Amino acid sequence: MLPLVALVGRPNVGKSTIFNALTRTRDALVHDQPGVTRDRNYGVCRLDEDNPFLIVDTGGIAEQEEGLAGATARQARAAAAEADLIIFVVDARDGTSSLDDDILAWLRKQQQPKVLLINKIDGTDEDTVRAEFSRYGFSEMLTISAAHRQGLDDLLDEVVQRL
Ligand code: GDP
Ligand code: MG
Repeated sequence: MLPLVALVGRPNVGKSTIFNALTRTRDALVHDQPGVTRDRNYGVCRLDEDNPFLIVDTGGIAEQEEGLAGATARQARAAAAEADLIIFVVDARDGTSSLDDDILAWLRKQQQPKVLLINKIDGTDEDTVRAEFSRYGFSEMLTISAAHRQGLDDLLDEVVQRL
């Protein structure tokens, strides 16, 4: 069995774009509208030929506990719970948010290793973004632009090292 990496984060931060970039597919639905990925979506990342891993794209963990958003959030938590590594995806443009704070509180209770992945770094001031997210207390923060395929190599290195 390949090791499993879960992409977790609130809707619209770019999880599906990252999934597609890593699996080189367009299987995951990418959309401007938050909450498009409702189910779990598994794919294999073989960008590092010697160290393939499974990756699961999840719907965003939303605030609501009821209805579709609540069901999506439960799916995301279930996917994260079975993962060997959790990638917490946040949005460089939006900065920290109360929903990110909530997800982080939940993540802290999970045993697995976690990585903070700041997406959409394109067009932002990286130092300012890093300073903003430093309060989340991750020893290492990765910055990428999934849409521009920037930073994927460093992300792969980090993932492979942690698995
Ligand atoms: P998800 O809800 O977390 O799966 O987010 P999506 O992957 O569906 O992306 C949400 C929106 O963000 C889409 O319009 C993407 O094109 C856009 N997006 C994703 N990655 C980037 C990025 O690196 N930079 C910019 N500027 N936009 C991005
Ligand atoms: Mg999605």
